[in-house]
Amino acid sequence: MKQIPIKQIEADKQFVDLYAKREAIHVRAYKGFYRNLRVLAAWPLLLAYFLTPFITWGNRQAIWFDLPQRQFHIFGLTFWPQDFALLSGLLILAAFVLFFVTVFAGRIWCGYSCPQTVFTYVFMRAERLAEGNRNARIKLDSEPMSFTKFRKKALKHFLWLMISAATALAFVGYFTPIRELIPLIYNFNLGLWEAWWLAFFLAATYINAGWMREQVCTYMCPYARFQSVMFDSNTLIVTYDEKRGEPRGKGSRKEQITDEQTGEVLGDCVDCGVCVTVCPVGIDIRDGLQYECISCAACVDACNEVMLRINKPTGLIRYATENVIQGNQYRLVSPRLIGYAIAVCAIAGLLALQLFNRHPLEVNLIRDRQALYRDIGSGVIENTYYLKISNKGQQHVTVSVGLTGIDYYTYTGPSEVYLEANTIAESIISIRMHVNNIELPNTPITFSVKSSSYGDLVMTQESRFIAPTEQLY
Ligand code: SF4
Ligand code: SF4
Repeated sequence: MKQIPIKQIEADKQFVDLYAKREAIHVRAYKGFYRNLRVLAAWPLLLAYFLTPFITWGNRQAIWFDLPQRQFHIFGLTFWPQDFALLSGLLILAAFVLFFVTVFAGRIWCGYSCPQTVFTYVFMRAERLAEGNRNARIKLDSEPMSFTKFRKKALKHFLWLMISAATALAFVGYFTPIRELIPLIYNFNLGLWEAWWLAFFLAATYINAGWMREQVCTYMCPYARFQSVMFDSNTLIVTYDEKRGEPRGKGSRKEQITDEQTGEVLGDCVDCGVCVTVCPVGIDIRDGLQYECISCAACVDACNEVMLRINKPTGLIRYATENVIQGNQYRLVSPRLIGYAIAVCAIAGLLALQLFNRHPLEVNLIRDRQALYRDIGSGVIENTYYLKISNKGQQHVTVSVGLTGIDYYTYTGPSEVYLEANTIAESIISIRMHVNNIELPNTPITFSVKSSSYGDLVMTQESRFIAPTEQLY
């Protein structure tokens, strides 16, 4: 009978204190290919985030989420609450792109482009500027308070607050045009809404990137929790090559050396601990894949530096798949990856189609809910309709309103409607008919709204003209 293998757990690892005080992680500075890659990824993201609110498109901010008007302007397009399906589609697409990337390359989103990581690295840079390198920071933290310590800590928090303030300003600038927001702050004339969100985002950035850092990824981020279920043996992960590195041991590797206690020939890991000191989440990758690992490859760069110094091949810690580490062939394409790729293409195609077929005009026609019809007297029946026309385009238009399906009627309502860009016009239309001209108690009619400004666009709305049966026969 098969038995579940039992693993011996070391005595000191049996209990984990969930309320333990956070140990500060002093990350060591390092150089390397993946560090450069992260810097290259972070700069465009930061520049895009901070500068986009200053871009103007036409006579307004290029990206502006105008919540009071319920309109989202993204360059030449304006999205209305009616376009919610598009937004849902976009979120579903983003989720599937993330799944696809995760199956292929693990948590590279976390390591290179997640705002939490990007801002944490910006904050760490400010910390290094104010307090010095890793050793200087550890020493400073262990010292009692002095004028020098106070000055360095104050400078660090000042820099953190400045970055947080800029981040909050840019964020709120997507909702209140930033060129209006800055003078409002300058003149102490902020509204309650703007003041609250500025304070909230300032505090959130300061706390998350300055104080909580890896705890956000470890305890708060849901993605960190479920991403491991998407991994398979062909997913690229940061791995320590145990076969090559173990048994680890200090000492030069110029000649073969053996472990004093076991007599085994030592592997390539010189047990320098540099891979641990550069890790922003404070783990030791040599213990295997851990859910805290954000795949930032800092340990890869750091270990490569060590390997080069001791004249050993780089790659003791590297991006590799489980298959490759076990000596099998690297398989780039897996059925799961193909599945996600198909889903991404299908959703992107549907979204593009929906976006392409999106009309700048939207017409809604509602019958009067109070009364099906009104008997005006002398055999005249009246039906009332509410017509709502939304101009989602960027130009003002004049639209003409027409009616087909009935003859010999009296029309009261607008025959032409003028609409500014991104506005809504509402009108009441009443149709009167004499019973002698009505053939059916329920006659289908069609309202048409035409605009020559949008390439002879014609929008139609079906409705009914209702009359009392007893007066018709
Ligand atoms: S940096 Fe490399 S050599 Fe040093 S402890 Fe880590 S894995 Fe071993
Ligand atoms: S173990 Fe390596 S890849 Fe993972 S978070 Fe730490 S430094 Fe980054």
